[in-house]
Amino acid sequence: MSNFIIDAHDIRVAYGETKALDGVDLQVEAGTVLGLLGPNGAGKTTLVRVLATLLKPGSGSATVGGLNVVTHAQEVRQIIGLAGQYAAVDEALTGRENLVMVGRLYGLAKNDAKAAAVGALDRLNLTDAADRPVRTYSGGMRRRLDLGASLVGRPKVLILDEPTTGLDPRTRIDMWNFMRDLVKEGTTVLLTTQYLDEADELADKIVVIDKGRVIAKGTSEELKTQLGGDVLDVKVRNASDLTLATELLTQVGNGKPQSDTNERRIRVAVGDNQGVDVLLAAVRSLDENKIVLDDIGIRRPSLDDVFLSLTGRDTHDDEPDASAKPSGRRSRSAK
Ligand code: ADP
Repeated sequence: MSNFIIDAHDIRVAYGETKALDGVDLQVEAGTVLGLLGPNGAGKTTLVRVLATLLKPGSGSATVGGLNVVTHAQEVRQIIGLAGQYAAVDEALTGRENLVMVGRLYGLAKNDAKAAAVGALDRLNLTDAADRPVRTYSGGMRRRLDLGASLVGRPKVLILDEPTTGLDPRTRIDMWNFMRDLVKEGTTVLLTTQYLDEADELADKIVVIDKGRVIAKGTSEELKTQLGGDVLDVKVRNASDLTLATELLTQVGNGKPQSDTNERRIRVAVGDNQGVDVLLAAVRSLDENKIVLDDIGIRRPSLDDVFLSLTGRDTHDDEPDASAKPSGRRSRSAK
């Protein structure tokens, strides 16, 4: 048996011509948080659905807690919780009723389901709203309730599909703290996200996927170090200066500058602890060449930078608009 609580090998899933997963390997150690990072359409939800036994892979194999997700789907469902971006709750029922119902679906006796609901409501600060119908809940409250529903069965492995996308910063931080508490108690978390800062905050290890393939993995520091430290970010006033400015920055930066014509921006990696020197050299050189700037600064790399460097594309390139998202991708608590 594998030492990993989640262990997936060479997972492939195709939707017609689209290779949603094109040979993905994923290993997660028990009691850790793995951040599965990738832009829209990368294949994150598809992988989550395979691991949560909601979708059979075309080929490849995966185990959760040593149980095969295809041949032992029922047992896998008993040890995982799944929550996501689309709160899977019944609008007409109260928060409490929703949680009791989920507990019953997990096979808990009525009183145990009630107790589990009380516990989850309390942890998620929903006690005051517990007896109101969910239709009166705010977006953040629904998301918390959805997360609560995934916890009622006391899962060993919690799979969270973009749990904070679209949440306000305050609720996002609450969610982060909540996830940290769960991990302290020994829960393993697989967290999909589009945000590097979220993976940065929570994940012990990060796997970056793009177009159905793993393109990088490591700790957040390792990924950023691949970029060679911080990033110099320059915005020129006139698009006509972009080519010359890019050339000048090639000489001061550490690596090949990436320019974005639409945004009139150029980004280039700077070496570790060389931010100030590079910034001064860049200002001098651009000024000598009479290039007018709208902005210039040194910052920590973002997911965009990691992506740009790994793929040569921005995370927002070829992003499908929300309405183009395939239907039927509502995440549900595993029953
Ligand atoms: P992510 O969660 O990273 O945004 P998805 O796993 O949802 O990515 O999608 C991966 C790819 O598979 C995308 O190109 C998406 O359009 C496609 N896809 C996902 N689900 C379906 C589906 N049910 N039918 C057809 N194509 C799909």
